[in-house]
Parts: sequence; C-alpha cells; structure tokens
Amino acid sequence: MNHSEHDEASQGGMTRRQFGALAVSAAAVTAAASAFPGVAGAQAGPGVTFPMPELGYPLEALEPVISAKTLSFHYGKHTKAYYDNTNKALEGKPTAGLTLEKVFMDAAKDPAAVGLFNNAAQAWNHTFYFNGMKKGGGGEPTGKLAEKIKAAFGGYDGFVKEFMTAATTQFGSGWAWLVADGDALKVVKTPNAMNPLVNNQKPLLTVDVWEHAYYLDYQNLRGDYVKAFLDKLVNWDFVAKNLG
Ligand code: FE
Repeated sequence: MNHSEHDEASQGGMTRRQFGALAVSAAAVTAAASAFPGVAGAQAGPGVTFPMPELGYPLEALEPVISAKTLSFHYGKHTKAYYDNTNKALEGKPTAGLTLEKVFMDAAKDPAAVGLFNNAAQAWNHTFYFNGMKKGGGGEPTGKLAEKIKAAFGGYDGFVKEFMTAATTQFGSGWAWLVADGDALKVVKTPNAMNPLVNNQKPLLTVDVWEHAYYLDYQNLRGDYVKAFLDKLVNWDFVAKNLG
C-alpha cells in the first residue's frame, strides 16, 4: 500500500462519528498546523496515516479553566508526538481502511506491540478528550443523558461524586471516563494509555488526569481541575452523540 494514498474514508465509521467536529480534512489540518509554529507534519501524506485532527476551538477558548499555554503544549506537543509516533510505527505496513481505533485494539492483543498501543491509544484518547470540551460547557445535561445519569448514579450530583472520585484516585497518570457498559452508564478510570473499548465499554466522555493536563494551571490540585472541567467545559452534545 502506498502511504501517499491516504484514504479519507478510512477515517470513517466509529472514528468519524466519535470525533465529530475534529473529523480530519487535509485543509483543516493545514490550518491547525499553521496555528502552531514549529509543529509541522500534521498533513495527510506519505508516512502520515493518521494526521492529527485540528482542535475544534482556539487555544484560548477554554480559559480560565485550561490556559492557552497548557493547551498549546498538550495539543501541539504531547498529542502531536502520539500521532507522529503512531504514524512512524505504521510506516511500510498496509494501512488501507485502517482506523486509529483498530490500530490500538489490535495492538492491545499483542504483547510485542505495547509501544504502538500506547501511542495510538493516547492519540485517540486525546482527540476524544479535546472534543469533549467546549467554551461555556459543563453543568447538568438534559434529555436522555439526564435520565441515564439518574438511573446510574441517582442524579447529576451522584455522577459528579463518582467522576471526581475516579479522577482523583487514579494513581499516577491516566484517565477518568463516563462509559456505556451495555445499557447502563458507568464511571471508570484507566491507567496510562488504556481505553475502555479494550474492556468492551463505549467511551462517552473523558478527562485527562496526566499531570501535563493540569499542572501549569493547578499544580498539584487535580481535584480543582476536574471540578472546573465538569462545571465549565463538558460538551454534553458530544457525549449525547456518543451515546447515540
Ligand atoms: Fe494528556
């Protein structure tokens, strides 16, 4: 397979649906790359099976909860490295029809592919995290989500309590998630790059609790960061779309 034959359709299915506003287009990626001087190589092309999707908002959109400085490093450096490393690992391999999700789900079954798993899952996790936030978001959801949250946690406050506990008790680096497990919603936490899809759970929302996500803005106060994420940033439209 010639890597220059990057197939937009290969970004479809689950990836396209879940990534919503961050769906990849070469033009959009070019625009995003230009917003980050020194962060090049996000365009589709030879050796780039999975270009890093653009952010759905400007770097300063999430201030004061998450500073532009944090986001510039988190998106422009950390996330970029995960995409770059994934693409590098796939060089010379057949990539037609491949999705990022399939890459890490396959790698999860192969002990020899732990490096690829870590980078591909982190690329997926970060794009999912960025998509789950918006300026002026947060607070209680409505409609079907509110009903599901009530059924699972007794109400929004119960959800907040569980989500806060998962996020603040994840030892070291990792993620807290709202997932669909069959018909029920659950809150889970995962270490490092782990993604709930590996455990047959469907991700609906995530918060990054690696220190790079909050340390510039909150230092050691992870709980303050997660509470502000819930109160002011959660993009419930994205969560509802994932729930389907
Ligand atoms: Fe991160």
